[in-house]
This record gives sequence, C-alpha cells and structure tokens, in this order.
Amino acid sequence: MSDSDGKKTLGLRGPNAGSVKQSFSHGRTKSVVVETKRKKVVVPKAGASKPAGGGGRPIGDPSKRPAGISDAEMDRRLKALQAAKAREVEDAAAREKEEQARAADRERRREEAEAKERAERERVDALKAKAEEDDRKKREAEAAAMAAAAPAAEPAETRTGGAKAAPPARKQPAREEPRRDNKGKGARDDSRRGGKLTVNQALRGGESRHKSMAAMKRKQERARQKAMGMNVEREKVIRDVQLPEAIVVSELANRMSERVADVVKSLMTNGIMATQTQTIDADTAELIIEEFGHKVVRVSDADVEQVIEQEADKPEDLAGRPPVITIMGHVDHGKTSLLDAIRNARVVAGEAGGITQHIGAYQVDQDGKKLTFLDTPGHAAFTSMRARGAQVTDIVVLVVAADDAVMPQTIEAINHAKAAKVPMIVAINKIDRPAANPDKVRTDLLQHEVIVEKMSGDVQDVEVSAINGTGLDELLEAIALQSEILELKANADRAANGAVIEAQLDVGRGPVATVLVQNGTLRQGDIFVVGEQYGRVRALINDQGERVKEAGPSVPVEVLGLNGTPEAGDVLNVVDTEGQAREIAEYREKAAKDKRAAAGAAVTLDQLMANAKADENMSEMPILVKADVQGSAEAIVQAMEKIGNEEVRVRVLHSGVGAITESDIGLAEASGAPVIGFNVRANATARSVANQKGVEIRYYSVIYDLVDDVKAAASGLLSAEIKENFIGYANIKDVFKVSNVGKVAGCLVTEGVARRSAGVRLLRDNVVIHEGTLKTLKRFKDEVPEVQSGQECGMAFENYDDIRANDVIEIFEREEVERSLD
Ligand code: GDP
Ligand code: MG
Repeated sequence: MSDSDGKKTLGLRGPNAGSVKQSFSHGRTKSVVVETKRKKVVVPKAGASKPAGGGGRPIGDPSKRPAGISDAEMDRRLKALQAAKAREVEDAAAREKEEQARAADRERRREEAEAKERAERERVDALKAKAEEDDRKKREAEAAAMAAAAPAAEPAETRTGGAKAAPPARKQPAREEPRRDNKGKGARDDSRRGGKLTVNQALRGGESRHKSMAAMKRKQERARQKAMGMNVEREKVIRDVQLPEAIVVSELANRMSERVADVVKSLMTNGIMATQTQTIDADTAELIIEEFGHKVVRVSDADVEQVIEQEADKPEDLAGRPPVITIMGHVDHGKTSLLDAIRNARVVAGEAGGITQHIGAYQVDQDGKKLTFLDTPGHAAFTSMRARGAQVTDIVVLVVAADDAVMPQTIEAINHAKAAKVPMIVAINKIDRPAANPDKVRTDLLQHEVIVEKMSGDVQDVEVSAINGTGLDELLEAIALQSEILELKANADRAANGAVIEAQLDVGRGPVATVLVQNGTLRQGDIFVVGEQYGRVRALINDQGERVKEAGPSVPVEVLGLNGTPEAGDVLNVVDTEGQAREIAEYREKAAKDKRAAAGAAVTLDQLMANAKADENMSEMPILVKADVQGSAEAIVQAMEKIGNEEVRVRVLHSGVGAITESDIGLAEASGAPVIGFNVRANATARSVANQKGVEIRYYSVIYDLVDDVKAAASGLLSAEIKENFIGYANIKDVFKVSNVGKVAGCLVTEGVARRSAGVRLLRDNVVIHEGTLKTLKRFKDEVPEVQSGQECGMAFENYDDIRANDVIEIFEREEVERSLD
C-alpha cells in the first residue's frame, strides 16, 4: 500500500535518525538523500549531530558556506521529519497537507511513492481487468462485513501485532507498519491485498475506516477507468531505447515512455536511490530498460563525433613509419639512464647541447631510420594512456638489472606489455656490475613466459650498460629489426590524428600538449579537437626545441594553441572547422561531466549502509585538488594521502591541472568534498555554481599551509575563520608604458572593490602568476584609495612588470585572523 511504501522510503532514516546525520556528514550520502536538498544533508552533522566537533570536517563547515543552514533550521527540519513519520503511520490516505507543509520534501516523496503504487495497481488491474471486477465486489462485501466486526476483533489483533513487533511499548499502528513491511515489497502483492488493508484499517476504528474505504473505492474506480483506457495498449509497446553513456532518470523514462515514478521505483528495487533529475550510468539504465521490457540501443558517441574522419587508408597511400618505443622495468633498474644514454649517443652533438630535452619524447637515427622513444617510463602512464584509448607504443623495451634480476615491477611491465599485445625486447642492464648475472635474468624470465632468444625463444635480448654505453648499438639494431617485422605503416597525406603524451599549463604560452602524431600530418594552422579541448595549431615545436611547420607519423611535437589543458592519453583529431571542433569538445565535456555525476550520484543502498557503519570507526574526507602544474598536483596528492589516522583518512577524488571548472564543482558537490586550488582559481561559472551549491573552494599558494590545514581539518581542529578575503576582481583591458612608473594596467573593476592598500594577485588563465602589492591605483589622473565595481582604473604592481591584456587582478585582504592552531 502507499503507506507501507512511503514508510519504506522513510524507514531508511526513520529508525536511526541519529546515525543518519553522521552518514550525511561524510559526503556520499549527500546525493543519496535524493529528494532532500543537499545543504540539508551536509548540515546535520556539523550542526546537530556533533556539536562537540570531534571528527568534524570543518573544511565543509556550513557556517562558512554561502548556502549553509543554521542549527535552528536543522532542528526545525528534524522535527518536521518526525512529525511526518508519525502522521504517516496513522493513515495512508492522510489528507492533511496543510499541516505537513513544514515537511514539504518528505511529503512530496511520499506522494511520489503513492503515485507509483497507484500506477502499479493500475497495471495489475489492466492485466486482469475482467476477473478483478467480480473479485473486487466480493472483497468489498467482505470488507464491509469485517468492518462491522471491527470492535470485537481489536484485542486479538493487538496481541498478534505485539508478538511480531519488537518494541511492545509502541502503539498499535506503529507496530502494524513494520509488520507489513516484512511481508514483502512486491507491488503486485500489495495491490492484491487491497481488500485486506481495508480490514486492517477497519480494525483501527470508525473514522479512519470510513476514510480509507472511500479512498480505496476511489482508487479502484480510477483503476478501472484506466484499465479500460490507453493503459492496456501502452503496456504492449516495446521501444528501442537510445542509451548514451549516461542519462538523466526522467529522460530515460521519457525514452521508454514510462512513468518517471515507475522508473525511480524500479531503480530503488535495484538498490539505487536516484531522483528523476539525477543522472545514472548506461549499465544501470540498461538494467532498468530490460526490466521494463524495452530494447536497449547503445549509442556510444554522439553524432557530432562523426565528422572525425574514420576512413581506412588505402594500401597504396601507406608508407613506413618509425616505431614508437617505451622503456619499462623495475625501479632503479636503469630506465632513465638508458633513455639518457640512447639520446646522448644519438642526438647530433652540438645541437642544443645534445642533452637538453624539451619534450617527453625524442627521435634518434639508426642507420638512416628514425626511432621514436617515449620518455614516459612507468606502467601507470602506459596503462592510463591505453585506458584513454591511445595505444601509442609499438615496442616495449623491458629493462632488467643484471644484478637484481626479475622484480615485482618487472612482472608488472611484462603483464602490461602482454595486455597491450606489444612485442618486447629485453635489455639486460648494468652488465658492467661485478655482480651481474645475465643468465639468471634469462632463466627468471622463463617463469613469466618470456623466452629470450638465448633460451631458444623469440624475444630478443641484449646485454647493455647504460653507464658505459656497452650494447647500445645492439639494442637499437634489435629495435630496428623488431620494427621491420612489425611493418609499421601510416598515411602521411591525410588529416592528422595523434595522442597526447603529456600536457601542462605553461605560464606565458598557455596550455601546451606534447602530441605524438600517429597518422597523417599535423600542420600549423590545423584545427583540432583533443579530448575535451580544441584549438588551432599556433606553433609546433619538435624534440630539439625548434619550431617546425609540420609533423608526420610517429613524430612527437609540442602543440601550442589549445583552449585548455588536455590529459595524457587524449586523442587529437584534426577537423575541418572550428565549429565542429568546439562542438565535439563541448559534447565530450558534457558527457564526461554526466558520467562523473552518475558515478557520484547513484550510490547504492549497500554503500549507504556501509558508509554509515564505517562512520563509527574510520571516515574519509574527500577532497578535489587543482594545481597550476602537474608536479605540484602530484606532490599535493602524495602529501594528502599521507595524512590520516585511525579515525579519518583523506581521499583525493580527483586531481588535475588548470583552473577549477564547473565540472570540478559538480564532482565535489556530488561527494561532499571541498575543492583545493593551488595557485589556480575557479573560473567565473565555477565560482557561481560553487556559491549556489555550497561547495567550498580553498586557495593556497604554499603547500605546507595546505597540508597543515587539511591535517587540521582531518583531525577536527581547523578554526573556521577565514584567513583571506577576496574583496575584488579587475580585468586588464590594456597595458600602457608610463615613464618613471613602468607598465600600467588599464583595468575595469568587475567585482567588489579595488583597494590601494590590499594585496593583489595577477591571474592568467586562472593561474596565479604573481602575488604582491600595488604601486599605484589611479582613477583618471588621480591617485585614489579605492575604486568601485564597474569603474575603470589604472593599476601598477610593485616590482612586477609582466602584465598583459586579459589578465585578471585579484584583490584580497588578509584578516587579522591567524590560524588559531598550529
Ligand atoms: P630507473 O628508476 O629505472 O629510471 O633507474 P635509473 O636510470 O634512475 O637508475 C638507477 C640507478 O642505477 C642509478 O644510480 C644509475 O646510475 C644506476 N644505473 C643505471 N644503469 C646502470 C648501468 O648500466 N650500470 C651501472 N653500474 N649502474 C647503472
Ligand atoms: Mg627513472
């Protein structure tokens, strides 16, 4: 029945309202309490549940949040919840909505459940409309009879109920609910017991009985009407449902032509709590579609992607291309040394000093043929690139130290190479060492099904020394031989595609990606899409640091002219127009965002319970990290992962390079995490979304400060005070040279106020590139203490001159508040 169903929903938090608050405080549950407002979810913990603040997460302190709710508000909501529950127990068809206004959210959910219930019943009715007609009449008669017998039956029912329900002190209706719950959740069962409900209600006493009877009759009448109408036909339509990577629940219902409430219910019975506005992933959606009896048509990529030329090359267009080699092996076995040795031996002397390496890949000459080495040793890089769809490596050189033989990461490397079906060449390194035992390496490898030539297998093995250069020629010959066997080919005469080997946001040059061209030729001026970014090639720089006009197959180049920083492993495709490029990039960004949202939102009941349980012992503090360069991002992640004790652990949900974007905020919100910006800022949309959703963003420029704060937050010690206030932002429109002053920025104050005495930061592409003070703040010709938002002004920095048009000046004031605990 609707009441028992509504009960079920509320029951989740009902029996243990206290612990619910705790689980809310730890992020995930945030999105689970689907019909509730998010802020509501976050608040209970800080406000009501843990006034002592023991394991609190002050970084998410609601009092600091723009959207935070007060304790009083929280209490009010909790009371409302209890009231709603009590009422619910009384009667399924409770009409006193005015009274429940305070519990609006809960009420709405209950109604949804009711609607679902009704729909289910109608469906059943539709299936056997005829038979039920008679049946129902019988039951009604029966019900009436039972109603008459009600007063007499009451004591007996009380006893039965008491035996079944645990707390005997409770009143009868309260007992009845759990009992019905236990009997089964099947909607069909419930609807079949429609008559019996009347009996039960009859037992409760006069008023409610009459009401329930009337309500039931109305429902039955409605059901009968529906059953005779379109409902019956609708049942039979089997649809082809187009299913993308992620889909919003209401859209899924729409595509199936099913009721949203039914879909939500179906999700719930599958253990997934999601509202109609939430996004679920394709696998979950497929389950639901099948449950409704429709056909799934997976659409992997949107049509926009189809402008990317997928045409296969004709054999006559193909020509040989250099092999791409990755060096893998156990730590300290000499990967880096070997890469250096090869480069130093082969890069023409005198060219840029020979040693200077500009990008994460280089080419060497072997008997007039080129070999491309990727300087990204490490299995994680290799595999994560593969996971992103870029198989760039043709040959793996497995480095094994002759004095150490096969080690765990050697085995890992073997497995990665095998998984990627990439041929291997074994370089037995450090043979200059006295303890070197190359044959032990060979026999060790046998155990891992790598049979080298010396053991009559077909894997080439070469003894080398990265230190004194022994065997390097043989190694390069072996590589050239292997590459001949592979017959690697490409068509230089087509639009290029390639893979990002590494990318970073470069102060001054903007986003820069090192791309390995895989097919076609990449030229200056080409328009491209790469992962979720796009751009037009402004400049190409080769591995020698020289500007080049084009790069053919297997050539690594630095690409300038992107609109954002892609990720290693992203695939670059040249397209015809900028419109296409942008469209694809935006589509991908959205798809990725949906997917992340789906991953964060669809928390299963099991997880919910697990979290609640885990809360007692160990809790996780999720955070997101964005930094100006990959190096600092990695350093921060490492530092964060070290923080923690028995009670709390820091979990980095995501880390990346570049400005904090809307999608970062989305992910943070879904997980109840704060966003840490290290020398980067949130862009304008991200800032406003964060304000709306109550996601906290913290900015740092010193890693120690960041680590200290997070440590403090993790142990519940961080004071909630604000260290720094942003008081304004100004956009640089133009830069002038003024004698005796230097460069002066002509600005428009876009937010807040510019203050002469305040601290300033210069942001370029939302990355902090300078922090200092103002030398001058001018309004027209006059030096002024303050300039308000909307007004133009001139600003010059103390001891800093590299300012450009479109840079942003952030104006901040440090408050007297020092961190109170150190
Ligand atoms: P990676 O961790 O695999 O990149 O290993 P490295 O290239 O950093 O080398 C680890 C250590 O081994 C360094 O101290 C190198 O100097 C040393 N090493 C590397 N190759 C050789 C070699 O062929 N002979 C000797 N004797 N030492 C080597
Ligand atoms: Mg190394």
